[in-house]
Amino acid sequence: MIESTGHEEISLSSLSSSDYDKLQELVYFLIDEFKKNGVNISLPSLRIDAFALDVMSKVQDIKKSSLTFAPEAGSQRLRDVINKGLTEEVILKGAMDAFLAGWNKVKLYFMLGLPTETMEDIEGIATISNQIAREYYTIPKEERNGKVQITASTSFFVPKPFTPFQWSRMVTREEYLEKQRFLNGKMKEQLNYKSIRYNWHDAEVTILEGIFARGDRKISKSIYDAYQKGCIYDAWSEYFKYDTWMEVFKENGVDIPFYTSREREADEIFPWDFIDIGVTKKFLRKEYDRAVEETVTPNCKMSCSGCGAATFQGGICFEAHTGNNNINC
Ligand code: SF4
Repeated sequence: MIESTGHEEISLSSLSSSDYDKLQELVYFLIDEFKKNGVNISLPSLRIDAFALDVMSKVQDIKKSSLTFAPEAGSQRLRDVINKGLTEEVILKGAMDAFLAGWNKVKLYFMLGLPTETMEDIEGIATISNQIAREYYTIPKEERNGKVQITASTSFFVPKPFTPFQWSRMVTREEYLEKQRFLNGKMKEQLNYKSIRYNWHDAEVTILEGIFARGDRKISKSIYDAYQKGCIYDAWSEYFKYDTWMEVFKENGVDIPFYTSREREADEIFPWDFIDIGVTKKFLRKEYDRAVEETVTPNCKMSCSGCGAATFQGGICFEAHTGNNNINC
């Protein structure tokens, strides 16, 4: 593919790259194979450890590249709600290790509008951005690589089918903009605000994503009508016609809040319920309840929570019985 496309980067993306035990071998092989052709290798950097820093220093120009973290939520409480196993301590330690190795740019990705979110959680985004900048300035001046740059970005949470949040309401465009303004204000209050840049994603595209993500057959006609009215290449902002979409939804009687900002009843039958993905609806509801109670569900490598995926007889559930883990599904 590299030969035929001329692409300049191979990016390994995964939800949980550390579950793949040949990762180091693969990455070092790719570096040896492609570095001479100027092809960059990029890794999902959920965990910044010695290996990740070694790889990054081999494939990136430390002075130009930035370190990426996706804490998703600004507070530990909310990270527990979304079962995100990344603690503040890990983020700060990873950032510090990278600073000591010469990096001075950090990118942080967050979501606004997560279920149960409070203003304190949002403020947490500004606080952690500031804390990372503060860590940098604990390094003696002569050992620093110039000024630190923290770029925090927020996108808008979209509840998806087959997830514990398939019952959740999505915040409205107005609520989202209010959260964004609040966070922007909090960013400016931070001591190191000059080192922090805050970027946000447009709410309009996200509203559409919210409708389509949990839409049913009733919205098909709107999609066709929008296409007839010239809505193509919507992912390119210069072609995106928000007003046309709103117009066709109106013409077809699509009630937007019904699909987006409505909390579903526990026993609601969803349009996607007839698809069997292995994971049961009962399990997802249990996870939803645990999320609201801020209880973290352990990783499958630690223990099986009986989600139902074992019916497919593959993957992590069965590696457990042949490998060294003690999972008993
Ligand atoms: S080990 Fe398998 S069955 Fe158990 S929770 Fe994980 S994916 Fe589900």
